[in-house]
Amino acid sequence: MEQFAKDIVQFIDDRKEKTWEISDHVWGYAESRFSEFKSSKEESEYMESLGFKVTRGIGGEDTAFVAEFGRGKPIIGILGEYDALSGLSQEADVAERKEIIPGGDGHGCGHNLLGMASIAATVGLKDYMEKNGVKGTIRFYGCPAEENAGGKAFLVREGCFDDVDICISWHPGTTNAVNRGSSLANFRIFYTFHGLSSHAAGAPHLGRSALDAVELMDVGVNYMREHMIDEARIHYAIINSGGTAPNVVQSEAQVLYAIRAPKVTDVVELAERVSNCARGAALMTGTTVDIRHVAAYSNLIPNDVIGDVLDKYLHEFIPMDLTEEDLAYAKKFTEVITPLDRAALENQAKALVGKGWKEFLDANPVLNFVIDGRLLKGGGSTDVGDVSWVVPTSQIGTSTLAAGTPGHAWQVVAQGKGPVAHKAMIAASKVMACAAYEFLTTPKLVEEATEEWKDRLGGETYPNPLPKEMKPEIW
Ligand SMILES: [Zn+2]
Repeated sequence: MEQFAKDIVQFIDDRKEKTWEISDHVWGYAESRFSEFKSSKEESEYMESLGFKVTRGIGGEDTAFVAEFGRGKPIIGILGEYDALSGLSQEADVAERKEIIPGGDGHGCGHNLLGMASIAATVGLKDYMEKNGVKGTIRFYGCPAEENAGGKAFLVREGCFDDVDICISWHPGTTNAVNRGSSLANFRIFYTFHGLSSHAAGAPHLGRSALDAVELMDVGVNYMREHMIDEARIHYAIINSGGTAPNVVQSEAQVLYAIRAPKVTDVVELAERVSNCARGAALMTGTTVDIRHVAAYSNLIPNDVIGDVLDKYLHEFIPMDLTEEDLAYAKKFTEVITPLDRAALENQAKALVGKGWKEFLDANPVLNFVIDGRLLKGGGSTDVGDVSWVVPTSQIGTSTLAAGTPGHAWQVVAQGKGPVAHKAMIAASKVMACAAYEFLTTPKLVEEATEEWKDRLGGETYPNPLPKEMKPEIW
């Protein structure tokens, strides 16, 4: 390892207790989209206390902030998140479903780790820059509302990334890998139908049912599935079914749609067709419909130049130093996944090692090695995608979770303060800090990453999927 990496790593290790402490606090705050007041306050104050210039409320988001150190070019951004998921309140460290607050929120995507590991990387890099007179600028972006609102899309729209040269990020998960694939672009749209209430038996002819409209819209969209590209995904949740009384014609009903496809342009087209199903349902039922677009995520533009540098350091800091106790901790969580998740894990093990997969899984309750990111299948959406349209960006994952742990589940919350999570977040910090240092000090690498990014975009510019009037909000 080169001297700069040794020094940065030493600093990150020296401060790891503090990193864990704040991450654990954020786990406890469990604040969901655009309500991350305590989390962003504690993280931004920590960075301020270490000499970063902190600007809060960027991009029109109260809980966003940027913490900057250094001067001039290049400008390297490290992205962090701290939002929780609704309905996933869960006690730590227990391998059974046990809510702390019934119906409360929980860190089901590990964003308590995400923010603090990125901060630890930025802090470690700053220390080295300061002591060695390294030029250039580093920034930590505290990004709210990754879940369900695509907070970064607003930050991109408002120009918060306009002068940045390279962005690096990571995500907790079950594997150590560079994210080599893309992600799905994604729109969230509310459809609210307004009808007329009436006595369902005495005067049904005087009623116009908003619930009928929701049902007919959903049927229309379900027929539409046959005639869309294979990779597209459409899901919906009926938010308001119009009440609990079957003998009252429902005058108000609402459904929320998530519409996903590999490219934003595909989603724009699909969303218009879904909206036409809504308009058709309104016409059929004599109701009216309000269409409210509340979130949009763009597909991720991967970058192999940045990915290769990250991969080099992943191999440096993985495997993590896991003890027998750490492995026993993980093992108890591998035993409480569903049979379907188990089957998916077994398929993954077969693809990785072939014949000896059973013994392999027994011996590896944590996948504590680097996997070639090209072997991993994507499928979700992330607002890091929006950043990647305006800045060459790459993301890694580290194994913060027991093998096979499903995403957005109580098991993720339960492991969020555990020993594996703690060690894997520190490994992620080291990888990001060392890679960021290389981009800070090697102009040629920045040029190559930018060239690749331009090639991949092929002349396209950021499609900015947010309707102009849309503001960051809690909905
Ligand atoms: Zn996440």
